[in-house]
Amino acid sequence: MTKPLIGVTSGDRIFFQTDYFEGIRVSYTLSTITNAVIAAGGLPVNIPIHNKDLSHHYLEQLDGLVLSGGTDVSPHLYGETVQPKIDRTDPQRDEREIALIEAAFDKGLPILGICRGFQLVNVMLGGSLYQDLSYREGTFIQHNQLSNSDIPVHSINVNPDSHFASLTPDKTTVNSYHHQAIKDLSPELTRSAWADDGVIEAAEAINDKYDFIGVQYHPESLADEYPVHRALFEDFVERIRKK
Ligand code: MN
Repeated sequence: MTKPLIGVTSGDRIFFQTDYFEGIRVSYTLSTITNAVIAAGGLPVNIPIHNKDLSHHYLEQLDGLVLSGGTDVSPHLYGETVQPKIDRTDPQRDEREIALIEAAFDKGLPILGICRGFQLVNVMLGGSLYQDLSYREGTFIQHNQLSNSDIPVHSINVNPDSHFASLTPDKTTVNSYHHQAIKDLSPELTRSAWADDGVIEAAEAINDKYDFIGVQYHPESLADEYPVHRALFEDFVERIRKK
């Protein structure tokens, strides 16, 4: 059986800097994501932050898209100016990923959004973000965990009517590596899971117009050890195979 080709978006950063070199830039994708895609039966390929004119060429070959975590989404994309606690942003990455995601949605490709990837799609589809969780009333969970990423730290409440619920039981525990969160959820998305303090932890498209599931946590870091978190990737590959 042919394995579906799954693009995984990458970060771009200086990897190496000494007195002798200006610094070498690397395009990187987390091995935890590519490993989880491979374990689910997919064939992952890293998509660098590319010239946006190349998006359609990528999409001619890809069967699915995983949007990885990374820098904060630029607040101007949801009509705000930068607040004091915003972290690093990368407008070029935003612009080029948006072109890629639009092309993928046009083609009807299944998309799995992780952390920043989830937030970016929410913003693209008309939603907004808290630039830092300290700006949100009523947050009482530590969402930016200090423990290793393979340790689940808080539980989630799951909407029983969601597709997500068929993969992830209510009260599943997840890891938490985010200082931002969804503020206004896009009208194209519905809440699939939330933490006890109400922070949105997963959402999915309200209808077939977009084949999208987004999660605020990092299932890729838990997929190796916990079948429940592997299920998200298995479902993703399954959705691709059904197309
Ligand atoms: Mn969280």
